[in-house]
Amino acid sequence: MTEPVTLAELERVAAVKSPVLHELSDNLVFGEGDPDANLVFVGEAPGEEEDLTGRPFVGRAGQLLDKILESVGLNRDLVYITNIVKFRPPGNRNPTPEEVAVSEPVLLQQLRIIRPQIIATLGNVPTQYFLATTLGITRTHGTWQEWHGIKVMPLYHPAYLLRNAGREQGSPKWQTWQDMKELKRVLDALPPKQPHVVLDTAEQGQLF
Ligand code: URA
Repeated sequence: MTEPVTLAELERVAAVKSPVLHELSDNLVFGEGDPDANLVFVGEAPGEEEDLTGRPFVGRAGQLLDKILESVGLNRDLVYITNIVKFRPPGNRNPTPEEVAVSEPVLLQQLRIIRPQIIATLGNVPTQYFLATTLGITRTHGTWQEWHGIKVMPLYHPAYLLRNAGREQGSPKWQTWQDMKELKRVLDALPPKQPHVVLDTAEQGQLF
């Protein structure tokens, strides 16, 4: 990929689907929000509503994500929301490792353009990708991690919270609220954004 320098340019590149993704929908769900956001949410892959609208997290899980943002005074315009895989897998199955790998350059370039200081990973797939771990989200949520100099906050996926809707102290929803308050505390205390983030990965040769 010759490096697109704007999200609009990158979106045009991302729309050209790799043959590896042939089982997935043809509709691109690229991401949306503040292109200069300090906080980027990364989910797994689009679902049905997202596939139909071309927007990330707009189905039931997305509506809950909106409420989660509101609970700490945030909204979609103040953050950026995307997924690792930009096309809907059939039947909402998990993306395969090959599908994640072929989607990686677009995600990395997206992050390079946006330059967030915090990445919030939603659920197991993006958390395990960024942290290179097999630990489940029940173990990792709410713990600050780091990925190439960027703070990472793993969170429960909102779809999991829909299936576990209890709000009592200690429940996944309650834990997510604690995690969000911690995330907001650190977000509010961030120093000014640096002009460039260096992604020290195998993709770097391609990216820069
Ligand atoms: N689940 C995800 O991981 N991403 C979406 O965009 C919607 C649901």
